[in-house]
Amino acid sequence: MSITKNREEIELIRESALLVSKTLGMIAGEIKEGITTLYLDKLAEEFIRDNGAIPGFLGMYDFPNTLCISPNSQVVHGIPNNTPIKDGDVISIDCGVLKNEFYGDHAYTFGVGNISQEVKNLLDVTKESLYHGIRNFKSGNRVGDVGYAIQNYCEKRGYGVVRELVGHGLGKTMHEKPEMPNYGKRGKGKKFVEGMVVAIEPMINQGTHKIKHHKDGWTITTLDNKPSAHFEHNIAIIDGNPELLSTFSYIYEALGIKSDEENEFINNYKI
Ligand code: MG
Ligand code: MG
Repeated sequence: MSITKNREEIELIRESALLVSKTLGMIAGEIKEGITTLYLDKLAEEFIRDNGAIPGFLGMYDFPNTLCISPNSQVVHGIPNNTPIKDGDVISIDCGVLKNEFYGDHAYTFGVGNISQEVKNLLDVTKESLYHGIRNFKSGNRVGDVGYAIQNYCEKRGYGVVRELVGHGLGKTMHEKPEMPNYGKRGKGKKFVEGMVVAIEPMINQGTHKIKHHKDGWTITTLDNKPSAHFEHNIAIIDGNPELLSTFSYIYEALGIKSDEENEFINNYKI
């Protein structure tokens, strides 16, 4: 499929992205100590099907579930299981849907109960780095500008930026060109143009950037077993500037969090 989308196609991607946003919002209201990640996965699958869509990850590259749920030192691609969630866990949840032939795909990392200040900082910095990256996704900029913005913001604060896994273009397939690394050099790589749609998704570790692949073929953990965070949005270039197609507002509503980050982003992206 073409690397750029027309307005009609972008609106269909927005519809899919917003269904992911609502699914994550529903899940946000259910995450608590004692619940299993497999239970959350079943809820998400039902919710997505009830909304006339199909889970995007289920069966993709033979992934067995609807959600990728990656607790603590797991970076991404965690398989839901029957282990109960514990107080203090930090749990990244990634969700994809397919509706009207277009994909939505984004992720949020939740702190459960009492999390340490160190972990809070990791979550804050990872999410902030996502917005720094998104601000650079505009006509005339290049892939390296987004990667540089994320890498610079996180490494300056002492965090590890995962290299092996990257963001991507989004459309009728989940992973399209261009690849969107969370590291890079300013002014390098593919040039952004009107109508591009991507998923930007920093995966940031509290310690080393190095990761370990496990025998199940999916699970990826940090090499030093320190926590990892993952936030992802879907964004289109419209009138030269980035426009969020996904939102964390359903999550904030479910958790009772007041956040103006998306409005602030919209008001400030030209800086
Ligand atoms: Mg994702
Ligand atoms: Mg993605």
